[in-house]
Amino acid sequence: MSPDVLICPACGGRLTPWRTWPSAEPDLGPARVDLARCERCRTAVSLGDPVRSAHSAGAYRPTRPRGAHLAAPLLSVFDRQRLSLLPPPPARLIDAGAGRGRFVAAARLAGYQAIGIEPSLRDVDPTLGLINATIAEAPIVTGSADVVTLWHVLEHLEDPEAALGELRRWLVPGGTLVLGVPNLGSLQARISGGAWFHLDLPRHRTHFTVPGLRQLLRTCGFVPRDTRHLLAEHNPYGMWQSLVSLATERPGYLYNLLKHNAPALSPDLILTLAALPLLPSAVLLEALAGLAGAGGTVAVIARRA
Ligand SMILES: [Zn+2]
Repeated sequence: MSPDVLICPACGGRLTPWRTWPSAEPDLGPARVDLARCERCRTAVSLGDPVRSAHSAGAYRPTRPRGAHLAAPLLSVFDRQRLSLLPPPPARLIDAGAGRGRFVAAARLAGYQAIGIEPSLRDVDPTLGLINATIAEAPIVTGSADVVTLWHVLEHLEDPEAALGELRRWLVPGGTLVLGVPNLGSLQARISGGAWFHLDLPRHRTHFTVPGLRQLLRTCGFVPRDTRHLLAEHNPYGMWQSLVSLATERPGYLYNLLKHNAPALSPDLILTLAALPLLPSAVLLEALAGLAGAGGTVAVIARRA
């Protein structure tokens, strides 16, 4: 978003200068990013131009993460929780921003007729038939989907309203949208500030609050039905990693190490290992935050009006 645009992309309220926070990937662009925040819904935006290489370089470079095989059972648990948010199969499902297509594969196994679209294809199983396109470009027939999932994508987009308008076009009337985003109103965001794992500058462009996201959904022709704060996939790790990042030099050190994006020989490794015993406390704290409606990320389930 350019600095001369001072309108909240979520609710249309007024944006005012807020904070300047460190980039999680200073090698990709500016070391710090200015944010402005909405006076009404408290959603924030990253100012300045987007970093062109942000979705193909750094932690997003096209290589398999370290320990990918060890993580497979955990990822399967996460996929099952995401599947539990959907209406039951049979249904035609589109996963927008499908990454490597892991969720498309899980949805097919669960009985959905699933396809995925992804603008930056990396290391993809060709049998999944992912469509290499942005949401705006994807050749999706109007009203051809019963369910659309948009999982940790909306915060990366320059024009979230336009993207949601396109997803609405894909869905049948009464169809379901399942949307996952980081929650700027969360406990972990509040206590870790610029060290918040899900701030992910410079990739994240809009930092939604739940009121902002629900307002945007209504503006785009959706009826928000349910907001979930207890999510295994991003929330417990996000709490722990955000707390650890308050102490390490590199934000999200463990995540970056697994993504081949941080050196193993680093004082941050020692700090990270020393913080492992904090994990159960962080999981408990995040669970309490989730129960209080302040989870680190949220899933919103909405119906196409
Ligand atoms: Zn707003």
